[in-house]
Amino acid sequence: MSSERGGLLLVISGPSGVGKSTISRAVLQRLNAVFSVSMTTRPQSSMETDDVDYDFVTAERFQQAIDKDELLEWAEVFSHRYGTPRQPVTEQLKSGHVVLLEIDVQGAVQVRKKFPEALMLFILPPGKEKLLERLRGRAREDEQVIQRRYAEAQCEMHAAQASGVYDHFLVNDDLNLAIERAVDIIEEWRKRT
Ligand code: ADP
Ligand code: 5GP
Repeated sequence: MSSERGGLLLVISGPSGVGKSTISRAVLQRLNAVFSVSMTTRPQSSMETDDVDYDFVTAERFQQAIDKDELLEWAEVFSHRYGTPRQPVTEQLKSGHVVLLEIDVQGAVQVRKKFPEALMLFILPPGKEKLLERLRGRAREDEQVIQRRYAEAQCEMHAAQASGVYDHFLVNDDLNLAIERAVDIIEEWRKRT
């Protein structure tokens, strides 16, 4: 379990564009936490850095990681594969760090089985229009991809509620308030475990 290994495994999920990365960045700084860099077959965007935002790999390399059991969890999201490399997470937990996984609901369900004491947060948008605004504001994808991600957001939110794995649902309306709330929840959890 996460606390037995000294650290805290923290999962942050939410629909695309809700503000996961923005909140995660603040949490990482505030708590001196470690970000788990996922492996993905998704193409790299011009705003992203390889090995920092993701380890961008070929479909063959991803399949090899599955075959060699190198991944703590993996899932197919928006027609691409995403997974969490196991070894860095295990090592950082052993050293007592807060390790942050920004993963989808399918991944969170897999992690919950392996780490019953992990803290799992799901970020919700203040409303549908705001979510679409944020997806567009990020200026990362074209309109067609944005519409697909927006449509998928409803499914992701329903799946999160139905999964029963999340400890807290957090609305990201005012950003600073959402960050404060997330930090408070994590600090409370650390005291308890
Ligand atoms: P995600 O990682 O969930 O896909 P991002 O963190 O990339 O989302 O945020 C999507 C966009 O929304 C970014 O442009 C970000 O600056 C903006 N954003 C995040 N949180 C808020 C907020 N509370 N209010 C307004 N804009 C926000
Ligand atoms: P994006 O393409 O916007 O960076 O990520 C798309 C979705 O994939 C998001 O919901 C994100 O949380 C999820 N994701 C990113 N990395 C992983 C991972 O390693 N495992 C799983 N299961 N989902 C991931």
